[in-house]
Amino acid sequence: MGHREDAVIVNTIVRQALAASKEVIGANGLNAVLRLSNLESFVNNLPPDNLEPGIQAIEYARLNQAIEEFYGRGGRGMLKRIGKASFQYAINEQPALLGVAGAALKLLPQKQRIKFILNSMASALKKSNPQVDAWVEDENDTIAYIESTCAICHSRENDKPICYLYPGSLGEAVKWATGNDYAIVETYCLAKGDPHCRFEIGEAL
Ligand SMILES: [Zn+2]
Repeated sequence: MGHREDAVIVNTIVRQALAASKEVIGANGLNAVLRLSNLESFVNNLPPDNLEPGIQAIEYARLNQAIEEFYGRGGRGMLKRIGKASFQYAINEQPALLGVAGAALKLLPQKQRIKFILNSMASALKKSNPQVDAWVEDENDTIAYIESTCAICHSRENDKPICYLYPGSLGEAVKWATGNDYAIVETYCLAKGDPHCRFEIGEAL
């Protein structure tokens, strides 16, 4: 498996990530990391909200790495916060993409609510980009969100999982659906040579 070389991120997702980054690290911080990742064209300039290919997945991976390195010890926490902000952006600014408008979750048990929002995220990603494969697993009483095309770690190698933005996003999604904070742990990562990135939904905190 592994990453395909021609993998792209569509504009709407790039827009989401950049708007969220700007909210967390400010316009100056965002412009600095954009320059570090050779994405100058987005300095003070968000891509349009459409499904045209926006950037290469490898460029998106470079942006994630630039944020992690630029902020040193705080980098991982920053990426997690950007993940949270990017779910908020999606739910507030792109509700049609997520397809959750009017969902009546209140009557469902917590587990069903978690699966609902994770499935919505996986299908939104797949709908917006046919290259993407993501799904939700529910085995041995553990729910996990899996993406075999994760762009955050595209062409990166590490002995530990490195997709720090993703658990932020998933945690915020689960919180939106349940009202509770859950621990989200990345248990597999393409950067480690695993066949996919896998994020386990742990206990309510
Ligand atoms: Zn990944």
